[in-house]
Amino acid sequence: MAFSLDRSQSAFAEAKQYIPGGVNSPVRSFRSVGGTPPFIEKATGSKIYDIDGNAYIDYVGSYGPMILGHAHPAIVTALCEAAQRGTSYGAPTIQETELAKMVMKVLPSIEMLRMVNSGTEATMSALRLARAFTGRDKIVKFEGCYHGHHDSLLVKAGSGATTFGVPDSPGVPQSVAQNTITVPYNNIEELEAAFKASGEEIAAVIIEPTPGNMGLILPKEGYLQQVQAVCQKHGALLIFDEVMSGFRSAYGGSQAVYGIKPDLTCLGKVIGGGLPVAAYGGRRDIMEQVSPAGPMYQAGTLSGNPLAMAAGIATMKLLGSSNNFFVKLNDNTIALTEGLRTQAERVGLNLQFHRIGSMFSMFFSNEPVYDYQSACKSNVKAFNVYFHSMLEQGIYLAPSQFETGFMSAAHSDADIAITIKASAKAFQKVVEVCGK
Ligand SMILES: *Cc1c(COP(=O)(O)O)cnc(C)c1O
Repeated sequence: MAFSLDRSQSAFAEAKQYIPGGVNSPVRSFRSVGGTPPFIEKATGSKIYDIDGNAYIDYVGSYGPMILGHAHPAIVTALCEAAQRGTSYGAPTIQETELAKMVMKVLPSIEMLRMVNSGTEATMSALRLARAFTGRDKIVKFEGCYHGHHDSLLVKAGSGATTFGVPDSPGVPQSVAQNTITVPYNNIEELEAAFKASGEEIAAVIIEPTPGNMGLILPKEGYLQQVQAVCQKHGALLIFDEVMSGFRSAYGGSQAVYGIKPDLTCLGKVIGGGLPVAAYGGRRDIMEQVSPAGPMYQAGTLSGNPLAMAAGIATMKLLGSSNNFFVKLNDNTIALTEGLRTQAERVGLNLQFHRIGSMFSMFFSNEPVYDYQSACKSNVKAFNVYFHSMLEQGIYLAPSQFETGFMSAAHSDADIAITIKASAKAFQKVVEVCGK
């Protein structure tokens, strides 16, 4: 049967009349790769199925959360049980403390934690808290790091913005943007220079320790330690945005990998087990400033939602159930990326492969990629050819060169072998269309 997206095409046309661009989050629209996004009917394990009846091996994993694969029986059961007890109370539950404790056990830098509903809310609140705690207004972020879509951080913000070529959104007031200082990632001199110029005014540095929103980029040796030292020297807080990297780069996040204790950490994606959950937390003396313990206001009608807590707790239980869980996930990610590298080299393509834990990226560039500028040198056209060939062969990758891929515990050796085989064909096509 020939690959067809006819039904998705009509669904997309209709959606566009009611929803801006037909989607509720921009990257889903396939704008950068062109074509029609498959409309999804269901997903289970490592597979996702569209309304045209196509099945795909899924490496998007809802952009990170689905570390157990889709519709994991333990999560489905936990959700059904929770739903029968009511879906929201606007009152405290034991489960909120339970999930908070589970998270803190794995990320010891977090001494207190507040649950919110999205990563955007987590970083927005963490910044307000840093400003409240230090009495300073400015913040530093890194080019290509994405922390959500609120005003202060929608400056030089990575994937969505990178893909669409609008690093700064209209509607962000100049008065807000001017309090955001942006410097390149992996360049300590530029960060030092920013602090030299306005160190007294900087409340916090917010960083994706292993950025995943300009594709996956890894820190140079000692870089994160240097960032922390600069913060400490100037009395600015260090905020690790581990919304993506938490439980993905390693069980304890990138802070475990690099041995750094940030002042505050933002989490999301995996901790909600596929439901809308995120959190911010960190040093007790800072977190005690959060309302109602302290004066910094932050609230949420559905925060700590019982369904979301149930999914989060069930996920955390499985992640912690065996040491082998993360070993296997890492090994599978290595097997996939090394398999892809071999196939690329066979047709003479020299690409940049990055991976950490269950996150991976492949840049269509023959130069090292270490920051936003170097990521942007990738051959986007070659990526697009590769992407569509993979999609037609039943492999679902994120529709942008600047997104990260995710391995789940549901991916089998057979899935990986099929993906590598499909890649051989896709790389061949890239060479035919774009050259080497
Ligand atoms: C996804 C992401 C966010 C935003 O989370 P949402 O739940 O989409 O608001 C923030 N920071 C990082 C690092 C992310 O990857």
